Amino acid sequence: MKNTIEGFGELVFGLPVMEQRLSAPTFASLKKTIGTGSSLEASVADEVAEAMMVWAMEKGATHYTHWFQPLTGSTAEKHDSFIFPDFKGGVITGFSGSELIQGEPDASSFPSGGLRATFEARGYTGWDPSSPAFIKYDSVNAATLCIPTVFCGYNGEALDKKTPLLRSMKVLSDQTIRLGKLFGIDCGDTMAQATLGGEQEYFLIDLDLVAERPDILRTGRTLFGKGASKHQQLDDHYFGAIKPRVAAFMGELDAVLWQYAVPAKTRHNEVCPGQFELAPVFETLNIAVDHNMIIMEVLAVTAEKHGFACLLHEKPFAAVNGSGKHNNWSISGPDGKNWLKPGDNPHENAKFMTIVVALMKAVDTHADLLRASVATAGNDHRLGANEAPPAVVSVFLGEQLTDIVEQIEAGGADSSKDGGHIHLGVDLLPNLPRGNTDRNRTSPFAFVGNRFEFRAVGSNQSPAGANIVLNTIVAEAFDYICTEVETAVAGGKEFNAALQDVLAAVIKEHKRILFNGDGYTDEWLEEAAKRGLPNLVTTEDALPALQTQKAKDLFAKYNVLTNEELESRFNIYEETYETLIGIEAATALDIARTMIVPAAVTAITEYSVVPAAAGICAEMSSLTEAAIAGIAKLDAAEKPADQIAAMNELRASVDALEAIVPADLWPMPSYAELLLV
Ligand code: ADP
Ligand code: MG
Repeated sequence: MKNTIEGFGELVFGLPVMEQRLSAPTFASLKKTIGTGSSLEASVADEVAEAMMVWAMEKGATHYTHWFQPLTGSTAEKHDSFIFPDFKGGVITGFSGSELIQGEPDASSFPSGGLRATFEARGYTGWDPSSPAFIKYDSVNAATLCIPTVFCGYNGEALDKKTPLLRSMKVLSDQTIRLGKLFGIDCGDTMAQATLGGEQEYFLIDLDLVAERPDILRTGRTLFGKGASKHQQLDDHYFGAIKPRVAAFMGELDAVLWQYAVPAKTRHNEVCPGQFELAPVFETLNIAVDHNMIIMEVLAVTAEKHGFACLLHEKPFAAVNGSGKHNNWSISGPDGKNWLKPGDNPHENAKFMTIVVALMKAVDTHADLLRASVATAGNDHRLGANEAPPAVVSVFLGEQLTDIVEQIEAGGADSSKDGGHIHLGVDLLPNLPRGNTDRNRTSPFAFVGNRFEFRAVGSNQSPAGANIVLNTIVAEAFDYICTEVETAVAGGKEFNAALQDVLAAVIKEHKRILFNGDGYTDEWLEEAAKRGLPNLVTTEDALPALQTQKAKDLFAKYNVLTNEELESRFNIYEETYETLIGIEAATALDIARTMIVPAAVTAITEYSVVPAAAGICAEMSSLTEAAIAGIAKLDAAEKPADQIAAMNELRASVDALEAIVPADLWPMPSYAELLLV
């Protein structure tokens, strides 16, 4: 086996480069900051900055940028060069510790959701040393050193996605360390880390065809389009042989991602023709999130080089599969082990079961928040459309693990051995299925052997939002369980008995969240309603979860988001939703008025002189009338829900027209053409 990939990580100022280029004490200090989340000693910043600049300039960079993640959901950068005039007509280069640590972009146009007034619009960026800096080549002569940063307002208000993500990782770490101590694991101040492996789905469409689709260009999805006669019915695309043109794209994609130290691992054809997936190996959560942002950018840039448009929209095409981003999440304890892996001894199993039960409590208590974290205009089309989980959030544990949970519940207060029950901290668990053996693809939140997979995240979303919620709700559940057990033990109860009691009570209260059956059926939706599980179908239904007292208390208690910060998220996501639907409505109107109706009229005119075509002509006329009426209705619609209804109605007559208007008169490439990459 070759022990390396040529060029892996060569664009990254990671630990190996740091070790080479920094003095031993500075390297040790930086490593400590990264490992424990402690603040950076000011004295080391200058040395790190200088080393970064020298390294970056050797790689051709002339500029640096604080690279941050505003609430738009994408990344932002403003470049500054390393030059300073020497006042003798020339320049010198320099990059100081303070420039590395803090920046002050005039970023007043980013959404703040009411967090700041225009007169205090300045935002501040601050270095996140836990995610390595990297160089981005935008073109042959524009290489830029990108420094991952947080983005805050004057009083420290989080204006971005990274700040609350890091805060949520800290609180999860604190509570995980506390939980570990109950089980005798003490690793000093080493942090526990949430881990994330994000599977990214996407479509590749021929760039030339996309140029003729104003809907894809402006909204990322098709607003019209009659279904192709052959699409995914035969399942002949899924895992099929990758066509040479796509393989060439994927080859370059992986090579570039590896340069960024993104551990791209798996690539394959997805279910729908034209749809593909990329999965990296999991990493520490905040690095995985940064890497996912890089993946989405490299996908777009590389696709264009190969004559493709890469569509990250959750539902580019109606009636065929859309794209998600499966969020594989676990906790790596302070001991560096995966704590969602069933253990080899009774003690480890008790810890594992405690975490599983805590997750039940977390997801049941805050199902509405998890749903809100994936609420976007695009994802609304996908959730519940029989390719993605429904809007009802439930937990899949699989038969065996469910059985163990039931045994713990039945064990009650009494820890004495009876009837083959498993006793926490005493018995071994049976061998739980690992990996692919026991899969339920219809569950939004599924245990998959050594991690949970949250399957409702949209392909186009930053993974930060969902994981901020996940970390925080799990930290809260750990906090609750630790407090209960600690109190009982302090009161003289034996540890395993105390744990058994607490877990049994939690299971009793939250077992309604467990569901191992088919989540795509109507019966489940009925059953879920009986159980009182929320079914928040649209973004407008889901976002108000961010405004409840429960949510405010949760995020404030754990210092992840203040009430104001949370409110700003609600405002921004709601406004973004309305704006996106408004853009879709305006685009649909443009296309219908200036492309579709004229084409239909031409067809009617041509057919009207042929008596034999009178029937077709009449059908086209009545569909055109319907389309014109649909245009008027859409034009009058103001609220998002009305705009959506009017767009659907207009689409029905337009798609019916597409089925009879001569193909050479139809003004846009058809689904059949678009999906045949
Ligand atoms: P599948 O499609 O069967 O779900 P993939 O291989 O496509 O599997 O993706 C699984 C993802 O889960 C990968 O990104 C993998 O690295 C990730 N993963 C595995 N173990 C963990 C873990 N402990 N924490 C987070 N993610 C993990
Ligand atoms: Mg997969």
